Amino acid sequence: MNAARLVEARDLKRVFDVSQPWLSRVIDREPRRFLKAVDGVDFAVDRGETLGIVGESGSGKSTLARMVVGLLRPSAGQVLIDGVDLFAAGDPSTRRDVRRRMQMIFQDPYASLNPRWRVGAIVDEPIFAFGLMEGGSGAGARASNPHGITERTGELLRLVGLDPADARKYPHEFSGGQRQRIAIARALASNPDFIVCDEPTSALDVSIQAQILNLLRDLQEELGLSYVLITHNLAVVRFMATRVGVMYLGRFVEIARTDDLFARPRHPYTRVLLDAVPDLTMSGRARTPVGGEPPNPIDPPPGCPFNPRCAFAIERCRNEVPPFHDNVACHLAHDDPDWLARA
Ligand code: SF4
Repeated sequence: MNAARLVEARDLKRVFDVSQPWLSRVIDREPRRFLKAVDGVDFAVDRGETLGIVGESGSGKSTLARMVVGLLRPSAGQVLIDGVDLFAAGDPSTRRDVRRRMQMIFQDPYASLNPRWRVGAIVDEPIFAFGLMEGGSGAGARASNPHGITERTGELLRLVGLDPADARKYPHEFSGGQRQRIAIARALASNPDFIVCDEPTSALDVSIQAQILNLLRDLQEELGLSYVLITHNLAVVRFMATRVGVMYLGRFVEIARTDDLFARPRHPYTRVLLDAVPDLTMSGRARTPVGGEPPNPIDPPPGCPFNPRCAFAIERCRNEVPPFHDNVACHLAHDDPDWLARA
């Protein structure tokens, strides 16, 4: 086993049944319909690294994020943390420990915090849920150890740049950026190794976004955390990520180190995404705006899923699905790794 590897997703799939109710189907003579939100995804995250995942809305990023932390059961495939399967760990204490090690930070910090709870109770809940204080887990432990927990809550709040006295306040007394700090403190409460950040700054003012990203980077350095960062913002991914995976219609179309991806994209969809971002260093090359809408995932086009929008599509692209090989899913890139740089 690779000692640096922390998380591994193998052939992960999630299919949703989006059929009409039975009676309507019978009357309209319609078949059942299925949506493949994530369709066979493999990736790995090493200790201390950040894997950015980008793509348009509906590409399957958030479904993937929820499966990776165990909030959504995959239809097929595995998520392994240090080689232990998140969904198949038989022994309850192993299962609990695997879940403790994975946390998630959501896009909307207000919706993810219980408005009726004081900040202290919000932040320390995972400590009791996972039995990380003397006295075990549950409400009894909370009642028996109020002093210890206050200290730990204060530490966590300080770690994210808040005052320990904030533990007595309610979420509505804070700004959006402060609420995201509370959500981060709560995620850190279970001493995780791995955090999935789902659009952690997109609900915040631009002036606050950089502060939260810097905080996440500082915490990564201090605590050795690994992140999966889901975002549609390429500037965020360029600032934060070690590697970037580009998703399209439930699959990765390219994974590369961040610098390589921005300097030499190998998949036409990646290039189109990069072209949409104003960047002075990319001047001099004609930009190809992405045309059309993403296809309906219930009824994807035959061949390469990107072919109806791809300026380089050839006959083969309309008939043959390109496999994800050598970190890219494009027939032309497989034939000649540098083709897109010359195109
Ligand atoms: Fe474009 Fe063909 Fe490559 Fe798909 S396989 S991205 S259609 S060139």
